[in-house]
Amino acid sequence: MINLEKCEVCPRKCGNDRTQYRGFCGGGDKINISKAYLHKWEEPCICGENGAGAIFFSGCNLKCCYCQNYKISHDNYGKEISVNRLSEIFIELQEKGACNIDLVTPTPFVYQIIKALDLVKHKLNIPIVYNCGGYELPETIKALKGYIDIYLPDFKYYDNKYALKYSGIPDYFEHVSASLKEMADQHKKLVFNNDILQEGMIIRHLAIPNLRHDSRNIIKWISENLPNESFLISLMSQFTPNDNVKENYPELNRRITKMEYNSILKKASELNLNGFSQDKSSAVSDYTPDFDLSGI
Ligand code: SF4
Repeated sequence: MINLEKCEVCPRKCGNDRTQYRGFCGGGDKINISKAYLHKWEEPCICGENGAGAIFFSGCNLKCCYCQNYKISHDNYGKEISVNRLSEIFIELQEKGACNIDLVTPTPFVYQIIKALDLVKHKLNIPIVYNCGGYELPETIKALKGYIDIYLPDFKYYDNKYALKYSGIPDYFEHVSASLKEMADQHKKLVFNNDILQEGMIIRHLAIPNLRHDSRNIIKWISENLPNESFLISLMSQFTPNDNVKENYPELNRRITKMEYNSILKKASELNLNGFSQDKSSAVSDYTPDFDLSGI
């Protein structure tokens, strides 16, 4: 099903031959990554004491105007590696004490990730985390069944007009909603071992200035459409305007207010959703590593 010579891995369905040309996401046939290290800024249950074994893939099938990882997502900064090398990195992170293998923005490289996991899955005894932007094809998520233990998708927009305006996508909602249902179906219950998540889903939502009603609609949809025992929700307040936003999106050129964030938290609380919130003073720099090609 997944074929790099006519790439339809994600809803963009470029149809590109990636052995010859890069797709919209910036992905070619080689894996491109910008850093692999123990990352301590994920949610506590996927960090443990040592951190998540994060591998930051370069390129992205979303192109959000407010992206905080512009250097890797838009500018494609990274180093090309082989499938074999990726499988070695999985083992190296495990040996360093990683709580899991945290595949960050993996969508363009699903094909190669499956091959790398096939090489070493029998040697890995920590969960594999699929940490994505939510713009996925359910068929691709189905292809990952048996490989991924924890899904960590974003749910960015309820109303596609915002998806189009800020991420250049006309059909985000249809795809994120169908894909999250498939993810919840693969791991029907959250499984913990000593407070560390082993299986299940954490749905992340970044609060964006002026979009609190959209955020509340997302929370309502999640509550009504996914089994409560299959997920946690992580509501993030770290939005920080980047240079592109400062120049081109004046309505986004601020942090979110306490009122906005509290309104979103209140909705989650009213609907009895469990999960995480952030200290509103959290700065994005706390969560964004230096992409220095280390660990590659
Ligand atoms: S993964 Fe990349 S090349 Fe493939 S369809 Fe999506 S955007 Fe296009």
